[in-house]
Amino acid sequence: MQNLYIRHRHAVTALLVLLAIGQVTVGAADPADRQTENVVLITFDGFRWQEMFTGADESFINKEFGGVREIEATRDAYWRPTAEERRATLLPFFWSTIATQGQLYGNPEQESVSRVTNGHNFSYPGYSEILIGYADPWADSNDKRPNPNVTVLEWLNNQPACHGRVAAFTSWDVFPFIINEERSGIPVNAGWEPLPREPAGESLNLIAAELPHVWAGVRYDYFTFRGAEECLKHDQPRVLYVSFGETDDWAHGRRYDLYLESAQRTDHYVRRLWELVQSLPQYAGKTSFVLTTDHGRGETRENWISHGDEHAGSDQMWIAVLGPDTDGGPVPAGTVTQSQVAATVAALLGEDYNAAVPQAAQPLPGAIRSE
Ligand SMILES: [Zn+2]
Repeated sequence: MQNLYIRHRHAVTALLVLLAIGQVTVGAADPADRQTENVVLITFDGFRWQEMFTGADESFINKEFGGVREIEATRDAYWRPTAEERRATLLPFFWSTIATQGQLYGNPEQESVSRVTNGHNFSYPGYSEILIGYADPWADSNDKRPNPNVTVLEWLNNQPACHGRVAAFTSWDVFPFIINEERSGIPVNAGWEPLPREPAGESLNLIAAELPHVWAGVRYDYFTFRGAEECLKHDQPRVLYVSFGETDDWAHGRRYDLYLESAQRTDHYVRRLWELVQSLPQYAGKTSFVLTTDHGRGETRENWISHGDEHAGSDQMWIAVLGPDTDGGPVPAGTVTQSQVAATVAALLGEDYNAAVPQAAQPLPGAIRSE
């Protein structure tokens, strides 16, 4: 964490000048130490740490507990003899790239525990904890209520370096409230709302409107992904939040086959976004990805579909960081929390969120290289 402190004389001089004109606060990281200029924060709703680290669970690949329709096809697609093979089959980008070039927290093999601290273990409180950096008891339902707390996205949007360059694409239609779109001024494209920009020659909004909608409040992650892609290409935000939702909804519907499929597709979308940023001058080599989930789920064949304070284990989750300022794993042993994500996003950009929001948890240990 040493790199978060000013060490160079020229930087001190620059800091004094900036302080005099009110541009920075004491304690901000030295930008010369970091390469990250942009952050993409990505969440998979309710995707369990068990599948992240051990792949498909054989005891769910059946009709009774997993609601699986094509059992042999699902086994062929996702079942392998070892946990290493299963997870690499389910999430090839995570296990080929993120786990080797970045930090992936919550892996029991590395004595790493990653947990939710809000005590509710469902979506709004989880996203609020991720985005504001602490658990506020106010967030105790999934109702569409504007968040009274300022998220790290809004805080960054109010910093000179990122002002007007923060955007969000979310599958779930509650995010305009969690991010408080109205107060924050951050454009939040959510749910079945049309995308603000369509890829050239593609009528994605017409297709989205005419497809059957399995869930009224959650659009298919494909549209969220494509909207995020267009935003990166044309609007070039410095901070982009991309929130995928299907994993949670297929799990609630007890469709383990479709839960696995959507996790694998989302891994593919993350790869596509990573490859896209490496092809764009604004982002190549200077963009970090932070990935996590809002909650875990039950641990048993009966209750893996559910989560919440009455389902043991649904406070256990995972977090990942990948980018030019992050070393390859393993992660430091110990417990990290969902609330550490907000300060990590800010620290990657050289901003000290904890100085502004003292109740926020510190950045994740090991997420930023300390020389
Ligand atoms: Zn959720």
